[in-house]
Amino acid sequence: MSRDQGAGVYLDHNATAPLRPEVRTALIAAMDQIGNPSSIHAVGRRARAMVDRAREAVATLVGAEPDRVIFTSGGTEANNLALRGGGRSRVAVSEIEHPCVLKARLDADLLAVDSNGLIDREDLAEFLADAGADGHVAVMLANNETGVLEPAAEIAALCREAGALFHCDAVQAAGKLDDITLAGTGADSVTLSGHKVGAPAGIGALVLADRFDPAPEILGGGQERGYRAGTENLLGIVGFGAAIEAILDHGLAERVRIEALRDRLEAGIVALSSDIIIHGREVARLPNTICAGTPGLSADRMVMKLDLAGVRVSAGSACSSGKVTPSHVLSAMGCDPTAATEAIRISLGWNTTEDDVDTTLQALERIFARRAG
Ligand code: PLP
Repeated sequence: MSRDQGAGVYLDHNATAPLRPEVRTALIAAMDQIGNPSSIHAVGRRARAMVDRAREAVATLVGAEPDRVIFTSGGTEANNLALRGGGRSRVAVSEIEHPCVLKARLDADLLAVDSNGLIDREDLAEFLADAGADGHVAVMLANNETGVLEPAAEIAALCREAGALFHCDAVQAAGKLDDITLAGTGADSVTLSGHKVGAPAGIGALVLADRFDPAPEILGGGQERGYRAGTENLLGIVGFGAAIEAILDHGLAERVRIEALRDRLEAGIVALSSDIIIHGREVARLPNTICAGTPGLSADRMVMKLDLAGVRVSAGSACSSGKVTPSHVLSAMGCDPTAATEAIRISLGWNTTEDDVDTTLQALERIFARRAG
């Protein structure tokens, strides 16, 4: 059971994944490593080799050349770098993007989604016809609340035809989908975040296709080939690299295992109450995510009830302040304001077990029985 350090049954991997054991081992070894990767002496060169190894892992996962990987402080910075550094005069982002994309360019047009959370092709076509080569489009690969997958390759083809750039936030897709490559998504840039893949928070990457060269947002030294100044976060980078190496080593088997657990949990939840709504269930989704709403039961109450039972999940609509407001994702999908505050997000991951699924189902069964009684 994924019960470490009082975490209980931790089913909130889309918020932050627990540190992978491989990452812990790599971090402990790296902690004894002093040295600035820019120093040319032996200690600096050792640090540089550690950064290079991590860069190689990220590049392999995204199908890029290592020198097109820019380490950042996380997904937020990477998304900002792509959209602000891209410098195009017209930007369009889907309505269901993470706030760090929605707010990166306040002048951005919003692209609608349908009731399944899929991008509205007409909206996109209209923007591209208007903006042409001045345009920069950002659509995420997988949504953090519902897990719904956007048709990245199709979006990329439309953007390419119009001469526009396409940025893809793959933060939630990394490690959960088989293909998050530049070629597979067709994107000009892809964002990753360390703490969603079992590395610490505070590290991420923007990976660039050859044809895209954003202007730096953080100026100073020449680190990251000038795309991002500042002494490298050696520990973060090592942890990130180790997490990605683990994904490259056993990712597929892990994904198959997690999907089976998710499907069992979801089937059990649906069987508990006939009025439960699983958002995004009709379309392709991440293998680890369930976004479930119970009419008449607010997400924050449900999260607290489960928390008391030792099961940690998120309110789909919780923003970074922890306050529950109607989910902008579910609202964009056409849910009314009440339904948009009723969805909880259950997200499984590398350390989720059969026992976790049983414990969660038992807890939910008790919660529903008390409501009915
Ligand atoms: N993009 C998505 C889809 C996310 O889910 C998150 C984090 O929740 C981010 C970006 C931001 O990443 P970070 O926390 O590394 O800044």
